Amino acid sequence: MRRTFVAGNWKMNGSKAENQSRLEALVAALGQRQDIDMAVFPSMPYVAQCQQILGGSTVAWGAQNVSEHTGGAFTGETSSQMLRDFECRYVLVGHSERRELFAESNQQVAEKFKAAVDSELVPVLCVGETLEQREAGETQRIISEQIEAVLSLVGSDVFANGVVAYEPVWAIGTGKTASPEQAQEVHSAIRAQLAEANIAMAEAMQILYGGSVKPENAAAIFAQQDVDGALVGGASLKAEDFIAICDAAA
Ligand code: PEP
Repeated sequence: MRRTFVAGNWKMNGSKAENQSRLEALVAALGQRQDIDMAVFPSMPYVAQCQQILGGSTVAWGAQNVSEHTGGAFTGETSSQMLRDFECRYVLVGHSERRELFAESNQQVAEKFKAAVDSELVPVLCVGETLEQREAGETQRIISEQIEAVLSLVGSDVFANGVVAYEPVWAIGTGKTASPEQAQEVHSAIRAQLAEANIAMAEAMQILYGGSVKPENAAAIFAQQDVDGALVGGASLKAEDFIAICDAAA
């Protein structure tokens, strides 16, 4: 039985004051919940603030990116061990904005995944197709290549330590959500691909859906057999919406 996981990607938003009130609201409403997994992903400078306010609650925190390198002359980068120093449990790898705007390749994303697991972080591997790719019938191929790059680098036993987030690029921040059936179709194909490598790993893998998830559509998405939660962007910036999405996961 897979646990539902609701994750909030704050992207490059927030301030110390805004984060404080949002985090305090999350602790008050969700901080003792044991029935689902929950995490927020602030911008890097606020990871310590999350540790301070969320520490001792059941809401975990993580970073939106991590270096594939362990340390040294990589100006502007953050290592997985540094994230562990601030008790991050999770890290996003391969978010479509990183792939598109910062030219992260499948290979680099795979190396980041490996670096995260090596430091006992749980990488949330984001995969998904653009609208052009969907319209060209390439959805499954694109996603399968994104997953295969990681599987072939780390192997299924290590892959088992991660989480997958299916995020159709055309649904991110656009207000267009994949229908629950579209999400289920891709999630089940991802699980089938993982099962070819390792059936037990595939059965246990949390596969999240991301792309304009809101309180109004969350329950229908969560009701799909192979959807194990959500990676929420815009709606995670409002504590009441994030809480409502967590409630829909119950
Ligand atoms: C995201 O950035 O991961 C995301 C899913 O964003 P949104 O919910 O705003 O579409």
